[in-house]
Amino acid sequence: MTNLHRLSIRELSEGLQQGKFSSRELTQHYLKRIEKIDAQVKSYVTVTPELALNQADAADAAIKAGNATALAGIPLAHKDIFCTQGVRTSAGSKMLDNFISPYDATVVVKAKEAGLVTLGKVNMDEFAMGSTSESSYYGATKNPWNLDYVPGGSSGGSAAVVAADLAPFATGTDTGGSIRQPASFCGLTGLKPTYGRVSRFGIIAFASSLDQAGPMARSAEDCAYLMNVIAGHDAKDSTSVDKEVDDYVANMNATSVKGLRIGIPKQYFNVAGLAADVKARVEESLKKLEDMGAILVEVDLNMVEAYVPTYYLIAPAEASSNLSRYDGVRYGYRCENPVDLMDLYKRSRSEGFGEEVKRRILIGTYALSAGYYDAYYVKAQKVRRLIQQDFLKAFEQVDVIAAPSAPTTAYKIGANLSPTEMYLGDVYTLAVNLAGLPAINAPVGLDDHNLPVGLQLIGNYWSESQLLSIVHQYQQNTDFHTQRAAIAEENA
Ligand code: GLN
Repeated sequence: MTNLHRLSIRELSEGLQQGKFSSRELTQHYLKRIEKIDAQVKSYVTVTPELALNQADAADAAIKAGNATALAGIPLAHKDIFCTQGVRTSAGSKMLDNFISPYDATVVVKAKEAGLVTLGKVNMDEFAMGSTSESSYYGATKNPWNLDYVPGGSSGGSAAVVAADLAPFATGTDTGGSIRQPASFCGLTGLKPTYGRVSRFGIIAFASSLDQAGPMARSAEDCAYLMNVIAGHDAKDSTSVDKEVDDYVANMNATSVKGLRIGIPKQYFNVAGLAADVKARVEESLKKLEDMGAILVEVDLNMVEAYVPTYYLIAPAEASSNLSRYDGVRYGYRCENPVDLMDLYKRSRSEGFGEEVKRRILIGTYALSAGYYDAYYVKAQKVRRLIQQDFLKAFEQVDVIAAPSAPTTAYKIGANLSPTEMYLGDVYTLAVNLAGLPAINAPVGLDDHNLPVGLQLIGNYWSESQLLSIVHQYQQNTDFHTQRAAIAEENA
């Protein structure tokens, strides 16, 4: 069977349960594809064939015994930010290149309990800071649609593996857009859940009040299957919320697009850097939703100019605090031959962290320092509240809010944007994390260079089910999500 990598999660589940193919066959199929294609895409940091085949055999045994869960035996790739017991967890950093995690993240535990098979760990920007995956210690991952372009970031490896058919779905994390933007750049569906919906336990921390894990896959339905596995309260994460979890798969058609009020923030469509072809594809997708019965309503989101500066104070501030644990003493990289303790700290951190991470530690430390704390950090927190209130006001009028996921399509590898240019590319995703809201990216066509464009739908708190359902119905009426990246076509 050569076409196993083309099957949806539902089809994989049915095929496995009906004995059309075994998990071992399926897993071997993916491992062979990785061996054949990944030298070009460079999406995996660590492949775990032994672990995968052991898990596959266990799933096959459970299926035979008739006590397997629905997803047992289906392969999955984890962003290399999720701690995996006995397997290197690098966060894309030299600092953690030698770190073998002694425990599993809750998301990883839940995936194991569901019988999913771990293919390996995939590339990302160092400590999830970036929008291209180029800041990884392991080098850049390529965009499967065109290998000269980036897959986006920071979950670029997660997007690339799915787009190149090197894993049926993948986990990602989103602190300021890192699920939605790479999903947009690689033509995938990716969901950033409400803050607190998915446990952060065992996820290497970047900015704790913004970080959230979610699924990246080809379709809303595939994302829903993974959400059913990873969502839920966790006593090990005090910010995870003890609230009933929806059955995202069963609710796939629960929200009607007919009569759905979609807010169009006019300020978003006047952003200077918004590319014409991105704007055109997004507007076409909104027209399509309107044809399906949605009502488009103009809304005001007035704080757009504050998004980038607010996020780029709060995220580095939290990062500077979180990353202080990498001191060369406890775990991770340690410099050679330190002359004294100060030298050990200094050189371990200077040599272990990359440029972007250092930049953020400096910004964050500055913003939190005694003389500037009120002027920068406290002020940013106040603006953050205003941004949240702006959204809540809009949700009094509409059910969801539509926006591009990014102002452009993928950048060329090595384009070498300045930090500010790069940060401005996050304008459409950051506010969602600042407010703690859920949002989804759906592919809505290609630009003039045949690179994917994404539509973002932002929902009110706990509306993951609704967002998945809306995108599912859009995908029943369109075929953008079935278009395949060039390298996937060449290796069909
Ligand atoms: N691009 C944003 C940043 O560099 C978002 C990253 C993320 O969501 N992890 O911070």
